[in-house]
Amino acid sequence: ITVAVARETAEGERRVAATPETCKKLVALGAQVQVQRGAGLGAGFIDETYVAAGARVADDVAALGDADLVLCVQPPSPSTLAQLKQGAALVGMLAPQADAARGEAIGARQLVAFPLERLPRTTRAQAMDILSSQAGMAGYKATLIAAQLAPRFFPMLTTAAGTIRPSKVLIVGAGVAGLQAVATAKRLGAQVEGFDVRPETREQIESLGGKFLDLGVSAAGEGGYARQLTEDEKALQQQRLADHLRTVDVIVCTAAVPGRPAPKIVTAAMVGGMKPGSVIVDLAAETGGNCELTRPGQTIDSNGVVIAGPLNLASMGAVHASEMFARNVLNFVSLFVKDGAIAFDWNDELLAKTVWPRPPKASAAAP
Ligand code: NAD
Repeated sequence: ITVAVARETAEGERRVAATPETCKKLVALGAQVQVQRGAGLGAGFIDETYVAAGARVADDVAALGDADLVLCVQPPSPSTLAQLKQGAALVGMLAPQADAARGEAIGARQLVAFPLERLPRTTRAQAMDILSSQAGMAGYKATLIAAQLAPRFFPMLTTAAGTIRPSKVLIVGAGVAGLQAVATAKRLGAQVEGFDVRPETREQIESLGGKFLDLGVSAAGEGGYARQLTEDEKALQQQRLADHLRTVDVIVCTAAVPGRPAPKIVTAAMVGGMKPGSVIVDLAAETGGNCELTRPGQTIDSNGVVIAGPLNLASMGAVHASEMFARNVLNFVSLFVKDGAIAFDWNDELLAKTVWPRPPKASAAAP
């Protein structure tokens, strides 16, 4: 089989779905690997390193058009999808429902599409979990952006010019990104607090040296995720948070509920009560933001409070984000590429639940 590695075309996307390291492993699985020229450049992998790993570097769509399996980070455009081989497999972040034309193009070519964001988050799937690996980088970068924007030090300093007290950093939402944000702010020496609606995060925040901010709201949902809060729960969370935010220097927002817009947790009134010189970095900007005033992709000033809504933070750390993404992809692909051939076992829930829209009929298993 031929496996193609796409060069990303989305604006600002620097990651790549396969590294020379994972290409070597794909070759060992019996695949011929074709990398679109320059695909790895944004992440620091030059074409020659792919060639040394046993891949062929090919120009543009020709590299993709005859592939049996195409690997990508972001979804290919409908016009690129239209040039893929009929029935080819496609693995990456595909968000097929987000764009009707994309969904149709996948259907028209009868592609076997595996949007990796659909992967069940079971123990066995951990090594393939792009949401986790990329969220780690996003939480790290969001915290560094906060440190960069803040007009203060994060650590406590004792200097000849007096003692500097450490910044008080609050991490909103303690999933994968939030916990990495707690760890990063802590390493920078800040006084770190975090909160989440899943009660198990208390121990996780504390184990990283943070303090759990107890707002008295617990809302664990299905599959280890949070559920949406009721209006009463939301009111309670907001009332307690509003008072607390007056004392905070930096907020890093990371809260999300799968399949929904980000919960609005920090209201305009709360921002109004914060000290001038405070900073909010809203990693949830991608899905609308946790702060009411966040403008996705922009950094604004609201009465002296700086609010940043950076997008695609994982791409800012393209080298390591790609290394992790590529290993996730390789581990997933290893479920169906063996001895130079593709064989889907639709009884494997990782394949059956990830494939979009559903497993092919002939051998369909219950999704
Ligand atoms: P996510 O990006 O969907 O959400 C981020 C965090 O926001 C979550 O911790 C959520 O509880 C929190 N949140 C939602 N609404 C909130 C609110 N109103 N106030 C405060 N916090 C709120 O989640 P994620 O980071 O992708 O993963 C969440 C959890 O899923 C992980 O921490 C883990 O427990 C589980 N998980 C398991 C596996 C696995 O076993 N393979 C892999 C990844 C994640």
